[in-house]
Amino acid sequence: MKAMIVTIGDELLIGHITDTNATYISQKLNSVGIIVAERMTVSDDPQQIKYALLHGLANYELIITTGGLGPTSDDRTKDVLAHVFDSELVRDPEVERHVRDLLARRNIPFNSYNYTQVLVPKCSETLFNAHGTAPGLWTQEDESIVVNLPGVPFEMRWLMEEEVLPRLRKIPSRMDIVHRTLVTFGIAESLLAERIAGWEKALPSYLKLAYLPAPNMVRLRLSAYEVDGDMANADIEAQFRKLYDIIPDNIVGYDTDTLQSVVHRLLRDNSMSLAVAESCTGGRLASAFTAMPGASDYFLLGATTYSNASKIGVLGVNPETIEHFGAVSEQTAMEMAECVRRITGADFGVATTGIAGPTGGSDEKPVGTVWIAVATAHGCKAVMRNCGTHREQIMDRAVAYAIEMLRDAVLGRNM
Ligand code: ATP
Repeated sequence: MKAMIVTIGDELLIGHITDTNATYISQKLNSVGIIVAERMTVSDDPQQIKYALLHGLANYELIITTGGLGPTSDDRTKDVLAHVFDSELVRDPEVERHVRDLLARRNIPFNSYNYTQVLVPKCSETLFNAHGTAPGLWTQEDESIVVNLPGVPFEMRWLMEEEVLPRLRKIPSRMDIVHRTLVTFGIAESLLAERIAGWEKALPSYLKLAYLPAPNMVRLRLSAYEVDGDMANADIEAQFRKLYDIIPDNIVGYDTDTLQSVVHRLLRDNSMSLAVAESCTGGRLASAFTAMPGASDYFLLGATTYSNASKIGVLGVNPETIEHFGAVSEQTAMEMAECVRRITGADFGVATTGIAGPTGGSDEKPVGTVWIAVATAHGCKAVMRNCGTHREQIMDRAVAYAIEMLRDAVLGRNM
């Protein structure tokens, strides 16, 4: 079954709000095996809504819209729906009772605007909205289903979960969609593509491969559409196992795993602790860990020592080291990592110091130069990385490299 999602609202086109409804509905439809073949955003203009509905009805079996069900003059979805299905708006006593109750509880009088809310197209079934005044609508004709949901995200989500998904799950011809992701790190997208070209070529044609790059990491997603879910899962698992022979050192995990979630697990499982001293990454390295529940088991300190004075005064870096080699240097990075480890007694001390730009670079140390150090009971190691040209990118890449180095240290590699 193929679907189209239509999100309605001028505010979406102006860019005042982000279209989170379409993303949410896409995920939910995929989870019940329905392919989202198209998404469209249109204004509140009835002509635009009509255009979207007619286009959807001509091409797909399922159309889900959000927005435009409210009581005001810019809410035109119901009028257009009734027009498209050659129907008319009629009063729904159930909806009226619900709206009157809801307004009475909030001490709001029922007025003529609310009256428009209790009118629904005769051709539609109403979907009870426990959290708002606008009901959802389910309209089925021949092979086509049109579902209209309110724009307010929490109302829309509740209706999807309680009313729409249970009905969609009952559609007999429904098949599964399977997406699985293998997370790789430390290998650039083009090199990865070269290394796994043979594997990619030999994939069964029904498995679709996608490369999804992020800083220092590439996700490989295999997708199968309209299949038997158990069979596709087993096939994908077998294909991913083959990659362990081809890129054994570059695989971090599956699906929602990240490099930090893997290190987080390793530290917790081995009862090891971590402290970080950051300069150019400004606290992002610390927050990559503290964003995960359970970080308090191992995370002892995150110090953002941005100035030379704080590197010296807070961490205890030797002023001569900074004077002689500079704040962005192997020596300063190593002292920062050793100091933060010593102060806290952590098993691992990690430090970053670099030039995030846009100013401050030189021929010798251009913007993007970052020194990263990891100190352990067995010694300290620092590496210099060029992390790019744009401030955001430099900070994100430096964090990714630091976590990669930390992972190696936790696994006892390369130290
Ligand atoms: P209501 O009965 O509350 O008026 P409605 O169906 O008329 O609901 P809209 O008026 O179109 O919905 O949108 C209500 C609010 O919901 C918007 O102001 C916006 O904050 C949010 N919203 C609408 N569409 C989306 C969307 N696609 N993604 C995220 N938020 C949305």
